[in-house]
Amino acid sequence: MNKQKKLIPLVFMLFLLAYLLHQNTVQSRPNLIILSLDTLRGDSVGYMGYVRNTSPALDEVAEHAYIYTKAFSHAPRTTPSHITLFTSLYPSQHLVPEYSSWNQSYALSPEATTLTQLLNRSGYRCAAFTGGGNVAPETGLGRGFHAYETCDFPCYLPRLSSFISENEGNPFFLFIHTYEIHSPYTPPESYVNYFGSDYGGGITVNKTLLMFEAEKQEKSIHDVYFSYVDRENEQDIFRLKQLYDAEIRYSSDVLVSRLIGELREHGLYENTLLIITSDHGEEFMEHGGLEHWRLYNEHIHVPLIIKLPYQRKQKKVKQYVGLIDVAPTVLDYLDISTPGSMQGVNLLEVNESFNRPLFSERITNLDAECLFQKAMIHPPHKYVWCPLTGYEKVYDLSKDPGELNPNSGVGARRLVELRRAFFDWMNHTLHTSLPPTKLMQPSPQTRERLRKLGYLN
Ligand SMILES: [Zn+2]
Repeated sequence: MNKQKKLIPLVFMLFLLAYLLHQNTVQSRPNLIILSLDTLRGDSVGYMGYVRNTSPALDEVAEHAYIYTKAFSHAPRTTPSHITLFTSLYPSQHLVPEYSSWNQSYALSPEATTLTQLLNRSGYRCAAFTGGGNVAPETGLGRGFHAYETCDFPCYLPRLSSFISENEGNPFFLFIHTYEIHSPYTPPESYVNYFGSDYGGGITVNKTLLMFEAEKQEKSIHDVYFSYVDRENEQDIFRLKQLYDAEIRYSSDVLVSRLIGELREHGLYENTLLIITSDHGEEFMEHGGLEHWRLYNEHIHVPLIIKLPYQRKQKKVKQYVGLIDVAPTVLDYLDISTPGSMQGVNLLEVNESFNRPLFSERITNLDAECLFQKAMIHPPHKYVWCPLTGYEKVYDLSKDPGELNPNSGVGARRLVELRRAFFDWMNHTLHTSLPPTKLMQPSPQTRERLRKLGYLN
């Protein structure tokens, strides 16, 4: 009996010790932030050597981070690209098309697991602050989040600040997204002439006028905006890029800089795994078009910065990698088991001998050029295939980075090798795809967001 009495305090002490150790582990787990700056081209940021000073806050993060100079998205559209980011499945595996294509509106299969669900189960507090529309929570992107806000940037900044201060002591996952850089390029007044004011053409930055015309003409705001652009006029294209760059600068100053400042203020910056990227790029007539809907590199090359907690040096990685690798990287780093379904690799382990083919695809967007087009980067080549016409194009990116001279100088043996790698992957995705769930009509709130964003007339 005496012996038992003596054991009670000892057992209690052991429990207390275990509890304190557990608490300590929980609280010292790093926070995770994924920041998606929609439509940001991989080559238009300062740390990539861009001529304009577009992104001082991103450059500051990049100084002590992994920077991936050849990072690519797997779809040139917002919804499928973000779904890939969160599931590490290729678009032809998750099969979720652009949300605003209403006649074919689908959500991620319930069989798929998202990064957020895994973080949630591991005790992370998960919140999203997004522009909504094509990243609406009902697409499957909302899965696992405790809170998911959708509104026009910069509307959510005060709530984002509150979330950071309220969760100082708990590990959290924040997904932050904005359409600010997306067309129509109408930066706030103080940024309109940030990169030049000597333009006398017809492009307007008057959002009220654009909305009014869109209502009157029953067109989307994008169509109205680009109707003021003379595509043959170099000055107009130059002006478009000026305004686009001004939007990047505004996002860097108002969102990224503020976010870093607040994390520092609360002592959270160091212990945060911070990932900055985009879902696709943007074309400025390099291949005779505007916006983002094709598979040329200007449409799919994106920035990718991964700042590890307490990272002190920059590490530049020049291998071809993709957004498909983000979720496995995060899970490995946080010591959470990665589901076997995920297709990506841990980006922190990518070394000079890494040479994996990378795939991008268009699973929506009807147009005459090529529906369901797919591309594979198999360095140094890029192989592009169109299923409906059967055409194939091969570019040598080492000699022709602008993708202007297809099929020049690729040997017969190399072509066979490329075809084999491409069709092996096609076969793999065909056998591992998940049927998505057909969505009901979108909520009135989502319809309104999409209309404001210019996706519905
Ligand atoms: Zn997008």
